[in-house]
Amino acid sequence: MPHRRLVLLAIVAVSLLIVPAAMFCAYAEPRVVSPFGATTGPEGYPRRGGLHQGVDLAAPVGTRGIAPAEGVVNRIIKYDLCGNGVVVSHGTLATVYCHLSKVDVGAGQSVQRREVLGRTGTSGLKPDPGFELLHFEVRDGPTTGAKRLDPIAFIVGCFDASQGYAADRLVLTYPLPC
Ligand SMILES: [Zn+2]
Repeated sequence: MPHRRLVLLAIVAVSLLIVPAAMFCAYAEPRVVSPFGATTGPEGYPRRGGLHQGVDLAAPVGTRGIAPAEGVVNRIIKYDLCGNGVVVSHGTLATVYCHLSKVDVGAGQSVQRREVLGRTGTSGLKPDPGFELLHFEVRDGPTTGAKRLDPIAFIVGCFDASQGYAADRLVLTYPLPC
């Protein structure tokens, strides 16, 4: 029956369009361009200030930096190396975001997972063109002297609205849209 064939063709055509798109989304996680503990930066130069205290995730300037779990903004920082940054407390853990061009939150503000904290930029230690990134740290508390931990050990993947994360603040999703 021609009508059935048309419907079948339409289903096949739509599947061909949707399936590759879904696969692409599932694997488009942010790219780590300099891991935790690295001695060189993404451009290959030796790091200033010793071993890398976080991870660098490739991100064009203006990318949304998003909360990887619910928490409270502990403070807004501005340092030579970090540039404009945000420190968020998540119970026993804290996360830090550096080199922002814009900060969208204030100290004391509660944030939900996926809420925008700021926009990526090149403040602080300026990257070479083509190496724009988000510096992301996990610490065992919000203080400057708190122990740095490898963020990748806490990241379960990209934010997925269908998952229930709210109960566990130690489960982090990527701090960039993916
Ligand atoms: Zn970094």
